[in-house]
Amino acid sequence: MKENKIRLKFKGSKHHRLLAFLLIIPMVFALSACSSSTDEKDSKESTIELYNMDTYMTVTAYGENADKALEKVREEVNRIDKLLSTGLEESEVYKINSGAADALSEDTYKLLDKSLQLYKDTDGAFNIAVYPIMEAWGFTTKNYKVPDDETIARLLTLATPDDILFNRDEHKIAFAKEGMKIDFGGIAKGYTSARIMEIFKECGVKSGKVNLGGNVQTLGTKTDGSKWRIAIQSPDKGDEYAGVLEVADKAIITSGGYERFFEENGVTYHHIIDPKTGKPAKSGLQSVTIVSDDGTLADGLSTSLFIMGKDKSVEFWKKHKDEFQFVLLTDDNKLVASEGLKGSLTSDRYEVEFVSDK
Ligand code: AMP
Ligand code: MG
Repeated sequence: MKENKIRLKFKGSKHHRLLAFLLIIPMVFALSACSSSTDEKDSKESTIELYNMDTYMTVTAYGENADKALEKVREEVNRIDKLLSTGLEESEVYKINSGAADALSEDTYKLLDKSLQLYKDTDGAFNIAVYPIMEAWGFTTKNYKVPDDETIARLLTLATPDDILFNRDEHKIAFAKEGMKIDFGGIAKGYTSARIMEIFKECGVKSGKVNLGGNVQTLGTKTDGSKWRIAIQSPDKGDEYAGVLEVADKAIITSGGYERFFEENGVTYHHIIDPKTGKPAKSGLQSVTIVSDDGTLADGLSTSLFIMGKDKSVEFWKKHKDEFQFVLLTDDNKLVASEGLKGSLTSDRYEVEFVSDK
């Protein structure tokens, strides 16, 4: 192929040539600045703050459709909250738990389906039927208490997702045992952030971000084309982040014992229940961050890997490495991350070890 070259020939004195050269420099700069700048309309930022699902949410969208999209997001978040709230008598989950549910909505159907799949895939770590155990620990009312072993043993017999009778054809659910209850608290925020990305796309928004109490999902890149820089919160909620991830088009969802806990007799009890013991999971991890295209999956897995601990998490990832990447903050203050995050994860605070799939 013939190379296309533009040759500029200047005739005249040295003085003229110098003058022409000096004129060209600002022109080149002006041209390059123009081509890299985005349309002003595309970079117009709109943000709303919501308090919903017990969480402060910040939703940001860019471009001329941003305001319209954010209004839809506000309605959608309210709608999902009203469906999934365990404490609200009109909610679908409340009706399921009191045996009064009709045909399931599309959202609950999808969440139930995904949750039961995760129960199988995570070898029982992700278990939406631990809700009666959450109640016994007081996490549902904030009247915290340590239940006795007998109570835990009794309630563990109800935490059996195989006893959830899910009729997929008729969109119906029933429980095989009396007293069973479910809760989508381990997956609902990721589902919500994923829905928000869908709304963005439907409304023609190409760049946006949602932060639901530290759980983030991003659409596209920033309007200048660069990746989003998303902080992983520190367990002590200090100013210094545990790490920073540079991503585009991803959900970044974190589970940590520090998010909700109480102390009794000098012992800390947190809200992520190991379904094998009925007690707060003790797996050697302070937090788990999942990076994935799929917000719902990321949320379900952040809870699951927190329960599994490091070794099981690494094994699980090796089987599912096309679906997600992870960052674990261990009890001995190290970050262990999957190698897919090399180049996007940095930390000023902790040493980072990358694990490979070999
Ligand atoms: P996350 O912050 O996403 O890890 O979710 C924690 C929430 O998930 C808790 O507040 C409970 O509502 C719920 N949960 C606790 N233990 C489990 C579990 N083993 N499987 C599924 N959900 C759980
Ligand atoms: Mg979760």
